[in-house]
Amino acid sequence: MAKSTGGRDGIAVMPVGEVPELAVKIVATHVAEAFQVPADVLPACELPRESLDARRLQYDAGRILGALERRAFAGYRKVVAVFSVDLFIPIFTHVFGEARQGGRIALVSLARLVRNVDGSVPSPAVGWTRAAKVALHEVGHLFDLPHCQDERCLMHFSGGVDDLDQTPLQFCRYCALILHDALSAPPAVSGRTEPAPDGP
Ligand SMILES: [Zn+2]
Ligand SMILES: [Zn+2]
Repeated sequence: MAKSTGGRDGIAVMPVGEVPELAVKIVATHVAEAFQVPADVLPACELPRESLDARRLQYDAGRILGALERRAFAGYRKVVAVFSVDLFIPIFTHVFGEARQGGRIALVSLARLVRNVDGSVPSPAVGWTRAAKVALHEVGHLFDLPHCQDERCLMHFSGGVDDLDQTPLQFCRYCALILHDALSAPPAVSGRTEPAPDGP
């Protein structure tokens, strides 16, 4: 994981702003294992201040996605950007993650994952496991997976952290098969699709 692959087929995991190092490492470890690709942790980049909504005091996931899609990330097949700040899209109060189906950049926000529904704080391990689930779900979208009806599948839509806790850390057989095909296909330049917000 820590060893650079030169990025050709790998997935980059990049903290944006101040993000706990352990969370980023855990996400990278799970990404590498689930997709059987090298996952490199990139140096942190600064939060794009222009994507802060001054009224909501949250960061606009769509604008961040657009900004990151304009960056090269030379050679990396996919990029997972990890945030501590709260992300939103206009129609939702917040999102855990965001990615375009078939796109290249996935966003994961820890902000709501490190709190339980009742406001209590779970152990860090619980928060990081949720982050790994959101990351794998978003990367699943990047490899063209839509949402899955199977509640025992990572591609099932999670409306809250309770749902997320019930979701196992694995794809169902059907999604795993589609993923396998997508991973063995040569990287293609995909068309733009609508972002898939994941949150409540
Ligand atoms: Zn599935
Ligand atoms: Zn989703």
